[in-house]
Order: sequence, then C-alpha cells, then structure tokens
Amino acid sequence: MADSNAALYRQLPAIDKLLQLDEVQIFVVESGHHWVTEQLRDMQQQAREFIQQHEQLPSWHNDWLAELTRRHAALQESALKPVFNLSGTVLHTNLGRAVMAKSAILAVNKVMSSPVTLEYSLDGATRGHRDRALADLLCQLTGAEDACIVNNNAAAVLLLLATVAQGGQVIVSRGELVEIGGAFRVPDVMAQAGCQLVEVGTTNRTHLRDYANAINDQTTLLMKVHTSNYSIEGFTAEVESTELAQLGSQHQLPTAIDLGSGSMIDMTVYGLPAEPMPQTYLSQGIDLVSISGDKLLGGPQAGIILGKKKWIEAIQKHPLKRALRADKMTLAALEATLKLYLTPEKLVTELPTLRWLTRSADEVKTQAERLIVPLQAFYGDKFVVEMEPCLSQIGSGSLPIDRLPSYAVTFMPFDGRGNSLALLAARWRQSAQPVIGRVKEGKLWLDLRCLDDEHALLQVLLS
Ligand SMILES: *Cc1c(COP(=O)(O)O)cnc(C)c1O
Repeated sequence: MADSNAALYRQLPAIDKLLQLDEVQIFVVESGHHWVTEQLRDMQQQAREFIQQHEQLPSWHNDWLAELTRRHAALQESALKPVFNLSGTVLHTNLGRAVMAKSAILAVNKVMSSPVTLEYSLDGATRGHRDRALADLLCQLTGAEDACIVNNNAAAVLLLLATVAQGGQVIVSRGELVEIGGAFRVPDVMAQAGCQLVEVGTTNRTHLRDYANAINDQTTLLMKVHTSNYSIEGFTAEVESTELAQLGSQHQLPTAIDLGSGSMIDMTVYGLPAEPMPQTYLSQGIDLVSISGDKLLGGPQAGIILGKKKWIEAIQKHPLKRALRADKMTLAALEATLKLYLTPEKLVTELPTLRWLTRSADEVKTQAERLIVPLQAFYGDKFVVEMEPCLSQIGSGSLPIDRLPSYAVTFMPFDGRGNSLALLAARWRQSAQPVIGRVKEGKLWLDLRCLDDEHALLQVLLS
C-alpha cells in the first residue's frame, strides 16, 4: 500500500515546473508570485491528503490548471454578490435593505474618488461638523430644529440615550420593549447607554398616568419605541405622543421616540399602509425622533436623530458621536436620497424601494405571464411551473401585518420530494447572480415584485 501511494505521490507535478508554464505565469502577473505559489502548495498538500485517504489521485489531478483557474476566479469574486431578490421581502435586511437611487450612486462615486469638503468650509468660516449640510436638509424636510447622523438607527438610539438619559431612569411602556433582529433589544441598549429602564403599564395597555406615576427625581427621559415588527391587537391602549410631550414639558423632562423605519412621506398617498412620520411627532412636541436611513427612506445604512436644537447640540458633542459617525460615502448617498424628497413627484420612479413597493399586482402579473412560458418549457419535465398570486412583505420591521398583493412563479416537483426543491433552490443560489426565492407549501416561490431585469433572470434560470 505504501509503495503504491509513493508511486502516486511521484505523479504530483513539481511546483517549480508548474510555475514555468505560460498559463500559470498569467496568474503570476495578475495576482503575484506569492499568491500563485501558495495555491499550488495548497493544492499539492490537498492532493497528498487525498492520496493518503483514498489511495488514488484527486479528480482534478488531470487538470491542475483548471483548478488554479477556478481558485483565481473565486479570488476575483466579491463576498458581496449582487442577487435577484425574489424572496418576497422588499427591504430584506440580510440582502442589504434599500437599493440606492441613481443619484445616490453617482454621489458616492464622486466622493470616493476625490478629497471633499467633509469638515472644511470654503468661505473660511470655522470648521463645521460633518452633518451640517444634511442637517439643514433634514430640517427643511421634517421641520426639525436640528439633526444628527450616525451609522445606523441602533447607534442613533444608543447615542441619544447616552447623551440625554445617562445615569438616570428612562420610562418606557411594557408594550414597547422591542427586540429587532440581530439582538437589538431596547432593554439591552438602555443598559449599554448607562440608563436604567423603568417599565410601566402592561403588555397591552399603558396609560399616561402610568408614566406620570413613575416620574421621580431620577427620571431623565420619557421614551416611546415604535413596535415596528409586531402588533398588539384587541384590548389595547397606548399613550398619544402629544400627551407624552405635554407630560414631559410639565416635568421638564425630554421625550424621545425610536421610530425604527419611519417615512418622510405619507405612504397612503401611494396606496401603501400608513407608516409613522417623524414630522408628525416633532410637531406634536416630542423632543427627539430617530429613524433608519435604509428602511423606508430608501437610502444608505444610517441612523438619523431629529429634534430640538438644544438636545442635538449635546448629542453632536458626546464622545460616542465620534465612534458612531457616518463616513463621507454614507453622507453623500444620504444627501442625494434626501434631495429626491424635495421633489416628491419623482420619488416613485427614482427610489427603487418605493418603485417596488408600489408596483401593482397586475403589473407583476403581466411580468409573470411573460416569464412563465420559457420557464415551463425549461423546467416542465420535472416541475409543475405555475403563476400564482402571493403576498409580498415590506420587510425590515416596517408595517409587519400589512402585505402587498403580488405574483410569483412557483415550482413544485412532480415527484413531490422536498429534496428536489432544496436542490433547485441551492442551484439557483450558486449561480453567477444568485436567485433568492422562498420555499413554502412544498413549492419554490419566486415573487417577482422586485424584479427589474427579466432578461438577466432568464439567462440564469435557463442555463
Ligand atoms: C430597525 C429598527 C432599529 C434598528 O435600526 P438599524 O438601522 O437596523 O440599526 C431600532 N429600532 C426600531 C424600532 C427599528 O425598527
């Protein structure tokens, strides 16, 4: 046995020899001597281990060049692959939420390729902070006195609490102790910000007197959290923000609302379910409101704090701001996105997220009708391929109970076996541009709501 293995080892090509091949030299020029040598050593090591275990050469032994080519292709590929999001969830957190408007993409490109006036004033005035220009725009759009921008809404809540409420008690309704995916829990964030959470009311009902009774000289903030990813129905009561703002000013305590998604425009204008708007709460006297940049706003990942000048100034000066601040790419994308809101008529065509959210079921159905024929022809021998109505989700914790009527192409295996479905889903996930669907009721569903490029999708699905 050892003898025959020794014979196999001898068949492995020498790295020096391989390095002399012209085809290998091309990779050396592109990715360097070090990388190529490392790959060849690794392949040799793998081949040795394979021989040891199986007493034969690995299948790729006949073509080392092909294996090296495969590794080189993998090196070129980004870990952030563009995919077709046919999952039925428009703002899919794991797929990067909002897809950016063209103007935002161009703006990011510009600031990436040149030095910019991030914290530099051209008229020689004193150095402003980096959020200044955007804050002015946000004030114009929402009626806020001032604004602060950070990395994401979780950071916004943390910074807000750390500045306004640190060392004190924050009163929150029991019905609003939200957990967002990825371990963002309101009580934990409070602890991290150095505040003590005081829960009031019950899960389904909280009254103004519950807040009022909990106020003492330790209290630093009255807070509401938008229950963005669940809803409590039935016998419920929550405190109106107007009343909470009044209670706060009676006791000279600030009030804040974490809206999560929040929308700067009235979604019902587009036939979409109502989503709370920051301007409403600010006009009702709430001091601080936080929202996400990449949920319904349709911009880059960012957290936006809007509110009273006095508090925003303190927030801007807090040492944590430095750790949580947004970079120039985020600010550029956010500025371009916000500018679209100055011309609301344009939003629905320019913001991909809003365009997808507002597509009618009929429009998606027409698209499904175009796709069903070639898909049936290609997959019809193994799958029942059908066009079916379905319900899309907005996602990212916004409007959890509201669904949007849509259409899907569904694939059900004739043999009724779940593993053929799993295989199909896995194959699509492995394609050059992965296709992300959803398995449900023994079928693979491709919800077409977020599909722009039919041609590109067919290229993947029909290969
Ligand atoms: C989404 C959400 C957050 C977290 O926002 P990120 O931008 O994901 O950090 C916080 N609070 C609420 C209510 C949310 O819906």
